[in-house]
Amino acid sequence: ASQTMACVFGNPIEQSKSPIIHALFAEQFDIDLQYVKRFAEADAFAFSADEFFSLPNTIGANVTMPFKHDALKWVSSLSSQAKRAGAVNTIIRKGSIFEGDNTDGVGLVNDLKDHGVDLQGLNILVVGAGGAAKGVLPALIDAGTNQLSVYNRSADKAIALVNETNHYKDNIATVYDDAAYDEAKEGFDLIINATSLSLYGKLPQISDLVFSNKPVVYDMVYQPSPTVFMQKANSFGCTNNIDGLGMLVNQAAQSFYLWFGHYPEVGKVHQYLLANK
Ligand code: NDP
Repeated sequence: ASQTMACVFGNPIEQSKSPIIHALFAEQFDIDLQYVKRFAEADAFAFSADEFFSLPNTIGANVTMPFKHDALKWVSSLSSQAKRAGAVNTIIRKGSIFEGDNTDGVGLVNDLKDHGVDLQGLNILVVGAGGAAKGVLPALIDAGTNQLSVYNRSADKAIALVNETNHYKDNIATVYDDAAYDEAKEGFDLIINATSLSLYGKLPQISDLVFSNKPVVYDMVYQPSPTVFMQKANSFGCTNNIDGLGMLVNQAAQSFYLWFGHYPEVGKVHQYLLANK
């Protein structure tokens, strides 16, 4: 049998761990997979995707920053997750048809599960309103979240995201306004940092009161870990702090499943990445 091909599109892309993750998944099922990094120019996602999928035996692709929206426009059809997220991180080829999906939400929810966090009934603060935040809100709602607050530096984006979210489930989301005097600040069970701030050693400008209830703290950034946000939470007595590496492995697992119909074991791969940083 000939080798199956997949790739990840991004810019930059050198740092991507997706090839090693998918190589380890493929090994689990004895699948002969060549998964490569594809750099695309900022304005050339469609060209790059056309080019890749003209190669023989291409089964699908992942899409990372900054192309998740370009991918949404490029594919032939969208899953409900991709539609609701407004972003595509996984392309599945079915002959000449290309389906767009978004596995970031499943990735986060499954990683939280792996860490023993049940989302049923939780009051969650999401920090950030970019592609990653948008990608995970539908999955958080489907997993039983009771209440969502969204904070973003640019408030207009938080407002837009909250409105969109309430379109799917009435009154579940509100904009977190740090200036308002509000007891609601103290009631969070889970805080998710969906900004890139930790990459630069920076913290979001929100009240320390958000840590009062000793929430679980999740940072989508995973390098360096513990991130500055996790360290800050820890200094307020929040001891359950999780970085985004498990989300990365879990979103990849869901993509792999969409391509091959086999669900890989993620724990071993997560451990491998931790041991080989
Ligand atoms: P976007 O560029 O779409 O959004 C970035 C977000 O960060 C926005 O909310 C933006 O706010 C905020 N932000 C950036 N710089 C600052 C700053 N200086 N001060 C305040 N806010 C800031 O990126 P994504 O949403 O796609 O990704 C966000 C992070 O999540 C990235 O670091 C990415 O690597 C990570 N991620 C991790 C995944 C995983 O599997 N672990 C999966 C997906 C993403 P504003 O709107 O005001 O600009």
